[in-house]
Formats: sequence, C-alpha cells, structure tokens
Amino acid sequence: MQSRGQLRGRSRWRSTGTRRTFLGACLALAALLSLAPQKAAAVEVCPWCKNDPALMAAAGVVSHGPIPIGPKGSEEIVRTLPTTLWVFLETAHLRWASNLGPCAVDLKDKPRVEAELARLRLALPTVPEKAKKLDPFLRLHLFAMRGEELYARFQKLLQVTDADFPAERQAQGPYMGNGRFLGEKDKFEVVIHNVRATHVPFSQSFSGAGVTDSLRWHFKEHHKLIASVPAEDPDLRQDRWLFPHVAHNLSHLFFCAYKHFNYDPPIWLDEGLAHAVEKEIDPESNTTDGEEGSLRDTSGPPDWKKAARQLVLSGKDRSLADLLHAKEFAELDMDANIVAWSKVRFLMETEPDKFREVPGAREGAIGRPGRAQRPEPGGPAAQRVAGALRLDARRAGRLLARLGQALSRGHGPGAGPLAPAP
Ligand SMILES: [Zn+2]
Ligand SMILES: [Zn+2]
Repeated sequence: MQSRGQLRGRSRWRSTGTRRTFLGACLALAALLSLAPQKAAAVEVCPWCKNDPALMAAAGVVSHGPIPIGPKGSEEIVRTLPTTLWVFLETAHLRWASNLGPCAVDLKDKPRVEAELARLRLALPTVPEKAKKLDPFLRLHLFAMRGEELYARFQKLLQVTDADFPAERQAQGPYMGNGRFLGEKDKFEVVIHNVRATHVPFSQSFSGAGVTDSLRWHFKEHHKLIASVPAEDPDLRQDRWLFPHVAHNLSHLFFCAYKHFNYDPPIWLDEGLAHAVEKEIDPESNTTDGEEGSLRDTSGPPDWKKAARQLVLSGKDRSLADLLHAKEFAELDMDANIVAWSKVRFLMETEPDKFREVPGAREGAIGRPGRAQRPEPGGPAAQRVAGALRLDARRAGRLLARLGQALSRGHGPGAGPLAPAP
C-alpha cells in the first residue's frame, strides 16, 4: 500500500515519456551489449585510506562496503550490475556507490581540484598536492567529502544541527520528523553510473520505470531517499559539472526529507532552493527537472542574475502567486526556474530568518518558539519583498501570509487533502 504522499512523490519524481523512446531502445541494446561479458567486479582496497580504521575515521569514512545502499545493499549492486569496478563509501550522513572510471583533470579545473585535494589531504596524508588524473577511489573520496560539506551547508541554511533531530518521533516538543537524518530514519544515498546501461536497470529495479536521466526516489519502508545519477553525457563525465548536478539532486532529497517526507514541498521553493545550492557550487551549472528525470541543462542563459534582472525589467517574471500554483516540475519553464531561483536567493540574502521559517512553517512551527510569526501586511518584511517582486507592500504582505499558510499546510494552494503522516 502506498500513501498518497508517496504517489505524489512518484508522479513528480519520475515519469515515463516518449521524448527519448529511440534513445531508450538504443540504451536497451547498449545494456545488453555491455552486460554480455559477465565479468565479476574486482575487489580492490582503497589506495588512499587503505581501509585502515584510523585513516577512515580521520576522513569521515564509516565504511568502504559492503554498505546497505539502494533497495538491497551494495553486494546486490555488484551482483546484478556487472562493471569494471564498484566503489562504495559511507560517511556520517550519506552513502555513495560509483562505477566511474579514472578521469583526467582539465587544466582549467586545476585550482578547484587542488583545493579539494588539500582539504582531503588533511585527513589522508598520501593524497597528492597536484594530480593529472583521479582514480575511482580518489574521485569518490572527493565526492563524499563534498557531500558532507553540502550537508553542513544545508543544515546551516535551515539553521538546524544533528541535535535537532531525535532518532524517533517525540511525543513532546516540536515535530522534527521521525529520524536523525533531517527527519528521515536513514542516510541519503547517491549512486553514480558511468553509463546509463547500469543506471536504467538499477533505477528500474525499485521504481519500475526506465528513466534516462537522474532519478530521485523515496524508499518509504526504509525511510531513506536516493538519487541515481547517470554520468554518461560529455559534461557530466567531468566532475566539475557532475558534482553540482549531484548537489542539485541532493538538495531535493534533503528538503523533501526535512521533518520527514510526508508531503511534497512546494515546487517553486524546492526547485529554487536546489538551483541556489547548485549555483553556490558553480554559478554556471544548471540542472532542470523534466519528463525523464533531472538533467544538466545547457539551454538556459549562463548568467542567471542577469537573466532574472531582464525578466523583471521586461515584466515577464511570474508572480509568486503563479509560482505557488505549480504542482509539477514540468510546469516550470526556463524563465520560471530562473524566477524561482531568484526568489529563493532573495529570501536567503535579505530575509534569512524568513527563509529559515519557510520550510519550518510546513509543520506550523519552526521548532523554536517565536520564529514562526506571520509577516505583517505592509510591514518591513513585506516592503522588502514588495521591492524585489515589484508589488505594492500590501499585496506583498498578503502573498507572504498566503505563502506561510500554504507552507504550514505542506502544499501549495489548490492541492487536495493529503494523506495523514504515517
Ligand atoms: Zn578510501
Ligand atoms: Zn530540481
């Protein structure tokens, strides 16, 4: 039995479609060909932490596997998805699986890579200062390190810490969900595939749908959320573009998990936040959510700040009221994505308390008394919002109030009744 919450999640988080039917057929063929030589994955020891408990602890690594990732764990992934090498890594809040091969470091990308290597070297002294090539273990170590950094950033945005999330739902006090991981019981998971030939059967094995692009899924029974990411297209083969794309997807996972995934959060806020998180990592990176999952999208303008200004000047920016009605990611065209991002950035920069309250308001209270006040119509908050959204202050105040109400119900206006929290 599935609750309505999960069904809504399903319909938004994955869908079938015909846009890439031909590609689908090619993929099926590629999958057959690539899986034909049933070669067992080699078991290798990580050359960086060497599976040494002291080094692993220093690098925040809980395990290099086997780990309980995906529906049936890492051993099932190795057994059912033959590839050259699967690398697994578990940290305090995330689990990773990857069959990425080695990658060359682009000359232009050297400063970023070297800065990351320096951070990792604090824990793992044999990590080189400079590298022309990253092996699969080093790549995943860097991803895992950045994943925990992202988790910390996200907690800072919501102004929460691990201590705010008890392992079980509390009878007393504010509702903070059902578990230690932002309100979910289990860790967040990312499976990165070097080809769609492993992504498609993997994601199909639990979602029932063969989606060509990145898929997010909520394992209701495990109380955990996962993203399966194919890194086959040329840009996503480079870690410079792959990590921000993963971060976009993780932002969706984190935000849906916040205080337990009982409802879909409002689309514009969920999407705007994911863009903001992604663009903090690389302002030129852009992921959009569409019919076939989420994909790196190069169709939009490279400079979203400029694009947002132009939309406002041309009067084409969608009002908050319009955005509040969106119920599917596919309803957001590129302009709406840009506007959602700019509204979230605006909240982050000028109304950090408001931003903190917004997701918190989903349950009617932020968790600390006194932080969930509604903005006064026409008050200072409304005036700042009005300035940014080109509305008069009273209308901005009404919009903020309406937003607060919508969020405290956990969905946008116009949505039907929701299933009770399990
Ligand atoms: Zn290692
Ligand atoms: Zn998104």
